[in-house]
Amino acid sequence: MLDIAGIKELLAQTQTIVITTHHKPDGDALGSSLGLYHYLVQQGHHVTVVSPTDYPDFIAWMPGNGDVVIYTEKPELSAQLVAEASLIFCLDFNTLSRINELGELVRAAKAVKVMIDHHLEPEDFDDYRYWNINACATAQLVYEWITKELDGKQYINADVASCLYTGIMTDSGSFRYPGTTSDVHRVVADLIDAGAVNWRIHELVYSNSSEERLRFLGHCLSQKLEVIPELNTAIITVSKQEIEQYHVNTGDTEGIVNFALSIAGIRLAAFIVERGDKVKLSLRSKGEFPANEICKKYFSGGGHRNAAGGSSDLPLDEVTIQFKTILPEYRTLLIQ
Ligand code: 5GP
Ligand code: MN
Repeated sequence: MLDIAGIKELLAQTQTIVITTHHKPDGDALGSSLGLYHYLVQQGHHVTVVSPTDYPDFIAWMPGNGDVVIYTEKPELSAQLVAEASLIFCLDFNTLSRINELGELVRAAKAVKVMIDHHLEPEDFDDYRYWNINACATAQLVYEWITKELDGKQYINADVASCLYTGIMTDSGSFRYPGTTSDVHRVVADLIDAGAVNWRIHELVYSNSSEERLRFLGHCLSQKLEVIPELNTAIITVSKQEIEQYHVNTGDTEGIVNFALSIAGIRLAAFIVERGDKVKLSLRSKGEFPANEICKKYFSGGGHRNAAGGSSDLPLDEVTIQFKTILPEYRTLLIQ
């Protein structure tokens, strides 16, 4: 393992750097990656952000977006960048399986590997780690790493600030979740001072959907929401046919699960969707309920206590039945 002095020594020379982040990047994954990208570019490094997959339009406006290489679109170039990198930053994930085929390429790469992350149970593949599960976003950690560990506050320009603001805003549920401490607000205030136009970023992320997305949301809420009041659980299931019928794009399903959780008294909400040949589950919970435990134990996934995900190879209706069958095991926690 390297310490920060070792990293500083490396960064004192021009490096060829790859920054990568998890499958289907969200605002924090892409925002932390591009935020770090804009910092490193200012130091004269050769930097490329390589994403394992595409991501939704509502985050595809961030500065530097045009320079992101998407593995599924350019696998050979991505593999070459990873193989030739001297430093690889792994942001907002901590197990290589979260970046699909890129994972084994990163594992085999000769580069020094840096993990900056806030998820539980990191895998040991890194040479240096800036990891804190109490951070509300990886973007918060990137800010703290640059400003505290590298004394680089003067490099937090408007591009860095806009990307990091987006990461913190999206991962904290717009500054709502319990991780949103006064320190987070101080970081966000610094980012606004550095040039992040907060109201514009909210508009670009949250008021930028297609008409079809809103109609799909209406369909989910009016036709597909199932409430199980005796277990304080709400479920929304969506089939492949519905995804096609409403022309649902990457990211269009994001956040729908929160509507199910917004019902008073509901402690656990699930969004279960058929995606390709897999069924993907998104769970959200209130308070102490460990949504990540269900995902880890039954759906080869994980995540945070209040926001977790997983997947299954079974058909949609079987996954839904399985999910409902699991609930009584958590009855005591659900009816508290
Ligand atoms: P979402 O429901 O938005 O897809 O994911 C919520 C959170 O759950 C993510 O931030 C991530 O931490 C975690 N997560 C989602 N899917 C998976 C998965 O398949 N495996 C693991 N380990 N974590 C996941
Ligand atoms: Mn995150």
